Amino acid sequence: MNRAKVVFLGAPGTGKGTQAKKLSAKFGLPHVSTGDILRDAVKKGTEQGLKAKAVMDRGDLVPDEVILGIVENRLVKPDCAKGFLLDGFPRTLVQAEAFDKWDSVNCAIQIDVPDDVLVKRLVLRRTCPLCAAMYHLEYQPPRSQGVCDKCGTALVQREDDREDVVKSRFQVYMEKTEPLIGYYRQKDVLHNVNGNRDVETVFSEIVQIVEAVGEMNDEG
Ligand code: AMP
Repeated sequence: MNRAKVVFLGAPGTGKGTQAKKLSAKFGLPHVSTGDILRDAVKKGTEQGLKAKAVMDRGDLVPDEVILGIVENRLVKPDCAKGFLLDGFPRTLVQAEAFDKWDSVNCAIQIDVPDDVLVKRLVLRRTCPLCAAMYHLEYQPPRSQGVCDKCGTALVQREDDREDVVKSRFQVYMEKTEPLIGYYRQKDVLHNVNGNRDVETVFSEIVQIVEAVGEMNDEG
């Protein structure tokens, strides 16, 4: 797999993180989630984390220059030399254009799921604050109620998975991030995937897409 530079597009809850983690395990490409990096900064109480927390809790976007700094620092690390899986970045045209100046995406995967399904996915989602494992109270409950299967930590609901915040995240997505679909379509790297199916079915379709991109790069 050579230089697969993948970005995941899709509203909150479409499964970008889940699919990116699985792809990362399969292909050995780093999963770069700006949301995870920010949540880690919040947990560590760094200055950047403290500033970002209020913005994240209300479902708004962290300023472009902060995000661009985070991504630039991450992508210069040696593990990104062979390619990367970007999850949650870019989220604005400014971010996409800035990114294109220092590297370029060769595969944009847009995951589509109807809005009503997404709301249910997000408000019933629970996460482990320690190991970041995800659960769903209806479809994938933990074995023992309220406790992470993997590390035994008490599960929490992300602040931004509360129903009122979820609505503003969708609004922000439609206004700021959806235009990126057209941006990557124009660059001829866009792939659309129906995300309203079970995780494994969606995954096998994404694997085929990424393998095809990798083969193209191997030949070139
Ligand atoms: P996520 O886990 O990707 O849903 O991100 C959680 C929150 O982190 C978002 O609602 C934003 O507040 C912030 N965030 C993550 N990535 C970005 C980005 N690329 N641009 C701006 N804000 C971001």
